[in-house]
Amino acid sequence: MNSGRSYIFGPVPSRRLGRSLGVDVIPHKLCNLDCVYCEVGPTDKRAMRRQEYCPADGIIAELKEALAEQPEIDTITFSGAGEPTLNSKLGEIIHATKGLSALPVAVLTNGTLLYLEAVRNDLKEADIVLPSLDAVSSRMFGMVNRPHPALQIETIIEGLKTFRKEFHGQIWLEILFVKGLNDERSEVERLRRAVREIQPDKVQLNTIIRPPTNAVFEPVAEKELFRLRELFGETCEVIGVSGARPVTAQHRVNHEEILAALHRRAMTLDELARALGLSHLDVLISLGIMEEEGLIDSFFYYDRKHYRAIEEQEGNPVRNMSFKIHLN
Ligand code: SF4
Repeated sequence: MNSGRSYIFGPVPSRRLGRSLGVDVIPHKLCNLDCVYCEVGPTDKRAMRRQEYCPADGIIAELKEALAEQPEIDTITFSGAGEPTLNSKLGEIIHATKGLSALPVAVLTNGTLLYLEAVRNDLKEADIVLPSLDAVSSRMFGMVNRPHPALQIETIIEGLKTFRKEFHGQIWLEILFVKGLNDERSEVERLRRAVREIQPDKVQLNTIIRPPTNAVFEPVAEKELFRLRELFGETCEVIGVSGARPVTAQHRVNHEEILAALHRRAMTLDELARALGLSHLDVLISLGIMEEEGLIDSFFYYDRKHYRAIEEQEGNPVRNMSFKIHLN
């Protein structure tokens, strides 16, 4: 890939998202937090104002160019050296990205601005949103995330809950534990209650992996992360250990297997992943490709996205109507 681009980077191996083409919509380092574990460096000036910090046109043009090179990737991920939701054109850029590729679009965010309707709208076309939540008490939020003074943790948690109600894609909530700070018992219990109310599709536990700006802060032990996982229930996984997510090359999913399952009945992403014993990400990638190829389509039933097979009849695609029976 051309490394001379300003806004597109990678593909990079991601523990959570396979091989990922990165889209950076924020200049280094623009954020409204100054987390003690940040790998990007200190936040000199915490920003709250949303604006077009990097031009949407330039980002889309570079993305088009990068995708034309047909890189082997699993996802297109908005991340980078700051908080992507601070770019006021994020929704426009995600919309354009969906028009350029059938691959899942993921957004890594600190989640602090989800209380704003405009931000929730900007994210609505993404497939996976990965927000962070490291603390519930104001004291711990201040100590771990060192926020802009205008940010209140109660408002942020309400924003996450509202987003869950409105957003039809996957929400993978990350909690990063720092030894001696948010791993204290009372904070873990608060986090557990907050997670139950937010209802993300997955909870991902992490710790400091690479050296943070301030080397005073340390990771929690690997076995402690696995102990914490038990507290957060069956949707929880540990990602903060070396090699936890193998570097995936192109996905290795048999599309015939998915199609056969969807011929039997319509299913959600979660049901398919469980039924076939595959990762959510691998299934999501395949569904995007199959939808673009006209093999399947999707619809909402009780606010949950379902996928169904499209059956060919005399050369014309006809929808498989059996889903109505099986959804009861
Ligand atoms: S939210 Fe992300 S970019 Fe901002 S300070 Fe925290 S870790 Fe760094």
